[in-house]
Amino acid sequence: MVCKNCNLKPVITLPNSKTKVCKGCFVKYFEKKAYKTIGKYDMLGKKKATIAIGISGGKDSFSVLYILNKLAETKRNLDIKLIAVDEGIKGYRDLSNVKKYCKKNGLDLHIYTFKKEFGMTLDEIIKKTNMKPCSVCGVLRRFLLNSKARELGVDKIATGHNLDDEAQSIIMNQFRGNIERSARLGPVTGVKKDKRFVRRIKPFYFLTEREVTAYCFLRKLPVQYDECPYAISSYRAEVRDMINNFTAKQGQTKHAIINSFLDILPVLKKKYAKSEIKSCKKCGEPCSGEVCKVCEFLDKIKKK
Ligand code: SF4
Ligand SMILES: [Zn+2]
Ligand SMILES: [Zn+2]
Repeated sequence: MVCKNCNLKPVITLPNSKTKVCKGCFVKYFEKKAYKTIGKYDMLGKKKATIAIGISGGKDSFSVLYILNKLAETKRNLDIKLIAVDEGIKGYRDLSNVKKYCKKNGLDLHIYTFKKEFGMTLDEIIKKTNMKPCSVCGVLRRFLLNSKARELGVDKIATGHNLDDEAQSIIMNQFRGNIERSARLGPVTGVKKDKRFVRRIKPFYFLTEREVTAYCFLRKLPVQYDECPYAISSYRAEVRDMINNFTAKQGQTKHAIINSFLDILPVLKKKYAKSEIKSCKKCGEPCSGEVCKVCEFLDKIKKK
């Protein structure tokens, strides 16, 4: 058996087909698909752009950094800044590989910690309040990423979200009856008309987790593969396993979720476009209610 494009030894079978390809052809296929997504959704715009990348040290964010940096070095008028958030999860969040990589490649890295920004690490918050780790972590992380990107004056934030992540989010929202939240998903997110939201782009929207893992490995990126100790108990992990089981049996499940979702996304966006964006009474950040989720959580934590 040889690669379908050349005669070299295959290393991976592409999803949605039984095609086997070699290392070089896979890397080319992967980058072409990511750049095609960037082009199709006009993620970088036509003018000079400053893009922040939310970097965690994991495979997704390292790969997105690699492909955007490659683009910045070769073709485009593109500036890159990196934002890393240290939640304070003992034995897990370690940004040493990120720091080393950025230093070696002259990249502009900005690190923010829960401890400094909110007064407590995630571990301390969970110990004190018994709140669900991923719910509080997700809200605080998103808040920091958006507010710090705005402070740094970037045009957009690129994240390493892949096809698996998105399929999980769609199903989670569906199962929770929270379809309005799905209206905020898609390859490009954020509210265009409100400058307080920095728009987010997902160049790996059509690439699976397995493909990103293979890319990272073949590009020899200095990735941290450990799993967060809180991930095991998360709702997302249950949904992920369920979708993986269906995909193992039927092959197309993840792609089918994404493709059918993209068909209905314009209808969802239209339906929920009028939802009013208010300002949080406490911190002034944009939110849908009177007080934003971050202030609500911080109040809860203080009261415990
Ligand atoms: S698994 Fe949950 S707690 Fe861990 S980093 Fe992700 S969102 Fe945060
Ligand atoms: Zn080949
Ligand atoms: Zn607030």
